[in-house]
Amino acid sequence: MSRRVSEEAFCDAALATLERYAAIPCLSPNFDDAWEATGHLDAAMALFADWARSLGLRGAEVSIRRIQGRTPLLMIDVPASCEAAGTVVLYGHLDKQPALGEWSEGLAPFRPVRRGDRLFARGVADDGYAMFAALLGIQALERDGTGHARCIVVIEASEESGSPDLEAHLDDLQAVLGRVDLLVCLDSGALTYDRLWVTTSLRGMVNVHLTVEVLRHGVHSGTAGGVVPSSFRILRELLDRVENPRTGEVLLGGLHAEIPVNHLAAAGVVAKDLGDPAGTDLPVVEGLQLMGRDGADRLVRRTWEPSLSIIGMDGIPAPLDAANVVRPSTTAVLGVRLPPTVDAAAGARLLVDTLTKSPPCGARVTATAIHADGWVAPALQPWLRDALYSSSARAFGKEPSFTGEGGSIPFLASLGRRFEAVQFLATGVLGPGSNAHGPDESLHLPTAARLCDVVADVVEHHARHTATKEKIL
Ligand SMILES: [Zn+2]
Repeated sequence: MSRRVSEEAFCDAALATLERYAAIPCLSPNFDDAWEATGHLDAAMALFADWARSLGLRGAEVSIRRIQGRTPLLMIDVPASCEAAGTVVLYGHLDKQPALGEWSEGLAPFRPVRRGDRLFARGVADDGYAMFAALLGIQALERDGTGHARCIVVIEASEESGSPDLEAHLDDLQAVLGRVDLLVCLDSGALTYDRLWVTTSLRGMVNVHLTVEVLRHGVHSGTAGGVVPSSFRILRELLDRVENPRTGEVLLGGLHAEIPVNHLAAAGVVAKDLGDPAGTDLPVVEGLQLMGRDGADRLVRRTWEPSLSIIGMDGIPAPLDAANVVRPSTTAVLGVRLPPTVDAAAGARLLVDTLTKSPPCGARVTATAIHADGWVAPALQPWLRDALYSSSARAFGKEPSFTGEGGSIPFLASLGRRFEAVQFLATGVLGPGSNAHGPDESLHLPTAARLCDVVADVVEHHARHTATKEKIL
């Protein structure tokens, strides 16, 4: 089996537009309150839409769907080119994380730089490349005269904010989508670049804004120190209700889940093959001791255990501005990852209740939370399993591997709820060195090109499967 889309062909078709996209600071709404006024998301969407139209896929309709007060959604509706029934939805997003910290010498978040087989810039891997891979895969089928079912490429613009606009768009699209029986999600990860990585689960997420107030305004610490309890100490005490401060173990039973034996076994298989993929390539300081016993344990911890990070703070001056005062308040934002099967809404309620009940020293404690559900892949139907093996062989010359991911993609849980029998392929380019959400994000171009082939193969298998199924019926 030869490749359908070479790296050169991918770059010829997509790179110029991807570089223009890389220059647009189209931050997700959480990081750009004024996104409607700044217009960056609209600019990126218009750029994508123009490129999609320029491909000239047979009968394709490209539209930007708008709902008052919400981010727009790009939809490319490619009609079936054969008898195949059902709809394949291919998903990606174009909103970006902020720059986050210093980028390395010569690199910058919104100025694309090509080095070797990588393109560096914010958003190119997470998740700008997705639309290009999806449409170039479909185009390869049309070029070969290979039939496909109706394919709808959906590119949203609020994913990095937890997809607050997604449900409204899906409600709006319900009638348009028809019977969705395959979702290809191109926003996930890879542990290596030598094979197709299939995501079997995603963690859920809760972000809690927690504020502890003790004074109406700051008071000289020579006056109030030792008399007024410190808001930071109270915050620390509250955090200890959630996690063990020495081990980092999350203490709330409701945030843990039973881990399915097949997922535990799969982590063992991956660790046997790759050693400690969850623990290597991290920019740790020398001598840092990682959590977890070994490679398999760390994979499980990253995909099926809850974890807490403090992702933002307020009420605390920068060191240069530090004065000897008892500060009036401290705010922390808790970023909590949840096991795939924990109900995120219930997890959010549990966290808020735990943090706000009986506040120490009678301090004023307030907490609000947003949340997104995790996801577990349904069992693979035989046709899709075959498709994954044959596409990985064609694109990578190697069998696929299966693993859970530690991040969240709300779309998968949402679509799974709406279409009970839907099958999933979740994969992506977020592998070693891609550093999505951090500095120096990069897209591994050979993998992006290979995923065009994977898309084409899976969509082809789907068409063959549904065509024979309809015949039997
Ligand atoms: Zn993403």
